Amino acid sequence: MPRPRAALVTLHQDGTECPESHKHTRSGKPLHPECPGRYRFESTCDCGAWELSGRTKGYIDAERKRHLASHREAQTDSGPAVLRELLRFAD
Ligand SMILES: [Zn+2]
Ligand SMILES: [Zn+2]
Repeated sequence: MPRPRAALVTLHQDGTECPESHKHTRSGKPLHPECPGRYRFESTCDCGAWELSGRTKGYIDAERKRHLASHREAQTDSGPAVLRELLRFAD
């Protein structure tokens, strides 16, 4: 099974996607004349068991990476990963 991916999608308030071509200033102000501004961020994993959306890009991005990391752990070998969990609890 190929490694699942979870793209981070930016949406306008009306639900349409805010594409890469819509540039924004550092403070998030839209530079594209047709961009109403970024409203929501959304990420859905290929595995179909995880999706998240919200107003904070940093949060969605961090959770997305955390979820993808859990796939990598599962793919290597569940044995050592489970063992590490147990050791963490033993501390
Ligand atoms: Zn836009
Ligand atoms: Zn997933």
